[in-house]
Amino acid sequence: MLNTKRWSVDLEKDLSTYYPQIKQAADLLQQNEVVAFPTETVYGLGANAKETEAVMKIYEAKGRPSDNPLIVHIAEVQQLHEFAQIESEKAKALMDAFWPGALTIVLPCKPGTLSKQVTAGLSTVGVRMPDHPIALELIRAAGLPIAAPSANRSGKPSPTQADHVASDLEGRIAGIVDGGSTGIGVESTVVSCVGETPVILRPGGITKEALEEVVGTVSVDPGLTKKDEAPVSPGMKYTHYAPEAKMYIFHGSDEDMQRHIQKYKAEGLKVGVLTTEEKKSLFAADVVYSCGWREKPETVAANLYRVLRQFDETDVDLIISEAFSEEGVGSAIMNRLQKAAGGRTLPSFQ
Ligand code: AMP
Ligand code: MG
Repeated sequence: MLNTKRWSVDLEKDLSTYYPQIKQAADLLQQNEVVAFPTETVYGLGANAKETEAVMKIYEAKGRPSDNPLIVHIAEVQQLHEFAQIESEKAKALMDAFWPGALTIVLPCKPGTLSKQVTAGLSTVGVRMPDHPIALELIRAAGLPIAAPSANRSGKPSPTQADHVASDLEGRIAGIVDGGSTGIGVESTVVSCVGETPVILRPGGITKEALEEVVGTVSVDPGLTKKDEAPVSPGMKYTHYAPEAKMYIFHGSDEDMQRHIQKYKAEGLKVGVLTTEEKKSLFAADVVYSCGWREKPETVAANLYRVLRQFDETDVDLIISEAFSEEGVGSAIMNRLQKAAGGRTLPSFQ
């Protein structure tokens, strides 16, 4: 068991007040230890991307399959040249438009520069510059490219608060920088710029529409939607983000959703419902949680993982979630819900 250090940073105050704490966290990263930190999407679990010893500690702490590569985080574009090839004009345009921000760009990796464990043996590397003052300062202070997946145990919902990180990883990692709740709440969009047309490998905080405004046509990896095609992004094949109770997504009318609730209750099961402010009064279940406003999908993204984790503190046997529009950030919301539900859906009644 490690003694997990915790530093709290109040972002209302001038960040320079906290430089000594951030330096302590950066020193641990330089010593090849693992430190969790906030980003604008979810909390990341960082380690020195150049050293296998450090990167292995991420896989161990998370219990993550090692065929699932890690995203490398940088604080300045200059850092990229050390380990990635950036000949693609479209990649450069995306960096200019969205960095710092919730966009991970997959590029060819320069061999021998990063630990092989970061790329899980692929010849490409996913890179991102997070838009969060603590993350940027920590990476700058460490002076290293930082490999950082989400700071949760593998399979669990990603952490949007430092307490989520602690509940999954306390004693397993060297430190946690607590910067309060993260803003966007779902992970970055992963886009590959290895070929001529950029391809979305994972929907996320930045929408397809927004990418297309900058680089024209962007395609979506068919593996994300079709059952019989393997996704290009290895992480997309796992059940993920899952609460402990079995989850089902329901596409249909509110009345039919209530009939499903009733049916399970009649079987003696405790039913949880994941819904929204607009609809929460329509459902009579054992536990009803709202994750935001349907009409404001960014609020749903921001609260989704926290609410999925809240179900773990109840004794529900199953969770029924309403379905969301797949437009804009809705495609990331539905992608995460489908992973959390392991693809399970409930039909409409005829
Ligand atoms: P996480 O670190 O938990 O946010 O997950 C990172 C996601 O990015 C996973 O779905 C990975 O499979 C994906 N990813 C990272 N690097 C690459 C890469 N080089 N090629 C394709 N997908 C990647
Ligand atoms: Mg993750």
